[in-house]
Parts: sequence; structure tokens; C-alpha cells
Amino acid sequence: MTEDVFAFNADIAQLMSLIINTFYSNKEIFLRELISNASDALDKIRYKSITDPEEIETEPCLDIKIVPDRTNNTLTITDSGIGMAKADLINNLGTIARSGTRAFMEAISAGADISMIGQFGVGFYSSYLVAEKVTVISKHNDDEQYRWESNAGGTFTVCPDTEANADKLTRGTRIILHLKEDMSEYLEERRLKELVKKHSEFIAFPISLKVEKSTEKEVTDSDDEADKKEDEKKDDEPKIEDAEEKKEKKTKKIKEVTHEDEILNKIKPIWMRKPDEVTQEEYAAFYKSLTNDWEDHAAVKHFSVEGQLEFRSVLFVPRRAPFDMF
Ligand code: ADP
Repeated sequence: MTEDVFAFNADIAQLMSLIINTFYSNKEIFLRELISNASDALDKIRYKSITDPEEIETEPCLDIKIVPDRTNNTLTITDSGIGMAKADLINNLGTIARSGTRAFMEAISAGADISMIGQFGVGFYSSYLVAEKVTVISKHNDDEQYRWESNAGGTFTVCPDTEANADKLTRGTRIILHLKEDMSEYLEERRLKELVKKHSEFIAFPISLKVEKSTEKEVTDSDDEADKKEDEKKDDEPKIEDAEEKKEKKTKKIKEVTHEDEILNKIKPIWMRKPDEVTQEEYAAFYKSLTNDWEDHAAVKHFSVEGQLEFRSVLFVPRRAPFDMF
């Protein structure tokens, strides 16, 4: 397979080393950023399908899946969104810096917090807060499946991901975080649930987490060798006693481990609820998750319109204009 090597744009390379080398303990925000990107990608395919219904047919189920893997020390986030073609992977994840890249670094040196990264449109790179290597596998309707990979250090690679043994996506993007050694907390079910609840509660697509379920199961102990031999020995003994003993011995409890996808965000969207049942804190939390703003909104208006057209709406006024408004 031909693997192309690319140099990161100088600003992006600088941003990445800032993310990797700055002492910063609130690393958990990476998950919010990746889920937010996944949600944007799902919005894009849904929007596109309004004019092009067949675009969505390659994968009609729109969702986000989180899979922790202790054996390989990886955390994987998969969405069935619009995906990225080869050129998108190269441009969006490395060679074209947007104005937010410099603006974010300037904000950081002026004392801003790394968790504001999403506001500057460079949230993807926050994955390097917890990962030493990141693999992005993506399938866009207009292209083959491609694989992007980088352990930072100034370069990334892109190659086709079309071998027979490749894990095929129908459409969308899979981000595989190869976690740093001390980041195993992000493989824990409880921690991941807490993070999704805290930062991604208002995502409008289902977010599932692969969880382990262990159930105790009673099984018949029929192929136990020792038991069989005992049974043979007892062949000449009276039959009644034997039968009774068999009953006692022939079941045992074993733990059965299964995996299932548990949906983490089940609450009703805020705009579907009655305004007088929504608290100011809930509006503020929703506003922040929607905009990545770190401050509360200045004002909010929640209303519904009924007539020829019916809709419900929540309008927010931010405290500050966004950095790139003009
Ligand atoms: P943004 O704030 O624009 O999402 P990012 O640095 O997080 O900035 O991502 C850069 C770009 O990479 C996005 O604008 C989008 O085009 C693309 N991208 C990132 N994640 C995904 C994804 N899961 N699916 C499709 N495209 C993505």
C-alpha cells in the first residue's frame, strides 16, 4: 500500500507541541471535542441528504459509538457522519491551518485555558492530550476508505485502507486514540459515562458506550472428568443414591462476560420541554455545550410557534462576539 508522508503546517505543528508539552491537568476535554466533531459530521450528512436523499443510504443509522479496549490500550470513537475523503484528511487534519490555530496559541499565551480549544476550531488536536498516537479511518461517499496516522513529531501519513482485512466503515469516521501509559482512566466505564454526562449531554445523536456485563449463570457440569470417573466407580452401587448425588453435583455457577452497547444520552432535548420547567442552569449548560463558550449566555428566549409552520426555538445571546465574527 502506498503511504504518503506529509509535514504538518508549521502553525499546527507548534499547536501540537504546545498541547503535548504544556502542563495541563484537565485533559478530559478531548472527549467532548471528538464527540462534538462527530456530531458536526452527522449534522452535515443529514443536511446533505435533504437535497440528495441517496447520500444517507450508504448508512442510514446516524450515531456515535465509544469503544474502550484494555488489551490494546485504545479508545475508539466512531461516527456514521459525512466522513472525509483523502483530500479532506490531508487538508483538515494537518496541512491547512485556519485562523483559529494562531488565535488559540495567542490566547493561551495571554492566559486562556486549553479547554477553550473548541472555540478556535482546532479541537481535534486535543486528542494529543491523552494519546501518543492517533489513527483516523474515514469513509466518504465520494472516495475509498483512507487511514490517517500520526504520533505528532511534525509529520502524518495517509494511505488507502482497502485491504481485505481492514475494518470497513459503511460511511463516517473512526478515531483510534492509542493512549499514553498513564491515561488508562479513559478506558474505565464509570469515567467515560461521567464525561459524556458532563460534557456531551445535549448531543442530538445517540452516543453508545461498549460495556462489559457479567452475569452469573447456572450450568450443568456434564463434561467434568472427575465427576465422570466417580460415576463409573459408582456403577455397582444402588441406583437411587447415585441419582440423588448427581442432582447435587451436576450444576455449577459460572460468570459469563458479554459486551453490549449502552446508550448514554437519553434525555429529552431542552427545546422540546416547557420553558417554565427548564432551569437557568440547564439553559447555561446547553448554551455552553452548543457553542463551546466558557461563559454563560447573556440572554435567552425560549418559545414555540404554531400556525402554518410549527416549531420550537431557543435563542441565545452570547456575552462576547466570537473571535472570527468579521
Ligand atoms: P472544527 O472546530 O472545525 O471541528 P477540528 O480541528 O476539530 O476543528 O477539525 C478540523 C476539521 O476536520 C473539521 O472542520 C472537519 O472538517 C474535519 N473533521 C474532524 N473530525 C471529523 C469527523 N469525525 N468527521 C468528519 N470530519 C471531521
